[in-house]
Parts: sequence; structure tokens; C-alpha cells
Amino acid sequence: MIKARNINKHFGSLHVLKDIDLDVQKGEVVVVIGPSGSGKTTFLRTLNVLEKPEEGKIKIGDQQLDFTQPISKKSLIQFRKQTGMVFQNHNLFPHFTAMENVMEGPVTVQKVRKEAARERAAEILTKVGLGNKLEAYPHQLSGGQQQRVGIARALATGAEVILFDEPTSALDPELVGDVLDVMKELAREGMTMVVVTHEMSFAEEVADKVVFMDHGNIIEEGTPHQVFNQTKEVRTKQFLNRIQ
Ligand code: ADP
Repeated sequence: MIKARNINKHFGSLHVLKDIDLDVQKGEVVVVIGPSGSGKTTFLRTLNVLEKPEEGKIKIGDQQLDFTQPISKKSLIQFRKQTGMVFQNHNLFPHFTAMENVMEGPVTVQKVRKEAARERAAEILTKVGLGNKLEAYPHQLSGGQQQRVGIARALATGAEVILFDEPTSALDPELVGDVLDVMKELAREGMTMVVVTHEMSFAEEVADKVVFMDHGNIIEEGTPHQVFNQTKEVRTKQFLNRIQ
């Protein structure tokens, strides 16, 4: 589903992503872990080209971008449609209801008719446990509920891959569980997901593959058991010891 090769990205003189390769199969959940500043978010953002690497190729589905070549606006738009993104701070429109937030993408980007978009938005919001909050504005929702609207919004685009950038790290601890439950349900249903998170128990329980990054490199990848229990990499051990 995703094939990233040789991804290199600099911010000025800082080499943030160094020859990153990653494969994600359809229906797989890949969890990216690593110390703060190791490049996890930047890598996730390159997957839907919110950050443009200077070098490398990314193939998602049947579309490929080669970042050493000029990329047309049209192919960029097509490419982006394949992934939905869930941000740390949900980025909801404050003056839109939950329903309107979820409808916005389909109506403005995909030109879906309002009635159809409304029906689908209600369906998805119900699925993430917010069937009784369709008309609520973000300020009337808890952080966890807002984040579930964020997930609903990513799902409403019909994207085949959902990218999660630390989706629970801005939440009060008691609200984290509900958001993770929604993500677990999506995983069970076979959604392809790439998740940057510090929730190791989620990684252990849900990930097909855990990727450990440090200083812009992928140090290792494997099953949760391999990475959490059998690693031979010093840097992985140090990281895991620190966060326990
Ligand atoms: P992580 O998600 O692992 O915490 P990031 O991908 O956010 O790491 O950041 C990797 C490095 O790139 C950090 O040193 C960070 O300060 C730097 N960085 C991230 N975004 C930018 C930016 N827009 N401009 C300059 N430097 C950035």
C-alpha cells in the first residue's frame, strides 16, 4: 500500500530524514516510535506531502511521486487524496458543528452533494461514538470527543490510509482511552494506518509493525514483540528504558 524509498529531508542545515525506507501492506498498522526530535512527525508528513523531501520516492496505492523530479499540482492533489491525516491538535473549524467539520472535505474538495455528505458524516460520527453530538460545536466537546471528530473527518475523505500524528498526546489522560478505542476498532476493520505515538501499550496491542527512529534514521523495525522484548539495538533499549 505504501512504499517509501530513500527519503531525505533537511530543514536548513539539519538533516532530519536520512535515507528512510518503509513498506506498509494494505490493512497493516505501523506504529512509529522514537525520541522527541528524531523525525517521526516529519516523516509522517512526507507521506501526504505536507513536507516535501528533497530526495526519494513514495508510492501509495498505484500513484508514485519522485521528489527529485518536478511534481505537478494535479498529481500532488491526486496523491494526497489517498491519505487522511489526524493531527495532535485536531485542527477543527471552531465555527462549524461536528457534522459540518466532517462534511467540509467531501463537499469542498471532492464535490460530494451536501445531502449525501451529511448522511455519510452522521454515519461516521455515529461510528466513532458521537451520534448524539452531530450538532455540537468544538467548544462544546471534550478534547477526546474533538479528536474523534478529527478521526471522523479523516475517514470521511474515503482515504485508504490514515496517518495519525500523536493523536492522544494533547489529551488529558482520562480521555486517551476513548480515542485509542476508536483507533483499535479501525485497525480491526482492516484500515491501513501509520501512527506516531508514545502509547506503547497501543503499539504492543495493535501494531503489526513497530518502527524505531532516532536522529533521522530508522534504527530497526519488527513486530512489537521483536522491538519491545528482543531488541539488540542499544539505542532502542535506551529509549525503552527511559520511557518505562
Ligand atoms: P519528532 O516527531 O520525532 O519529535 P520532528 O519530525 O517533529 O520529530 O522533528 C525533527 C527535527 O526537525 C527536530 O529537530 C525539529 O526541531 C526539526 N523541525 C521539525 N519541523 C521543522 C520546521 N518546520 N522547521 C525547522 N525545523 C523543524
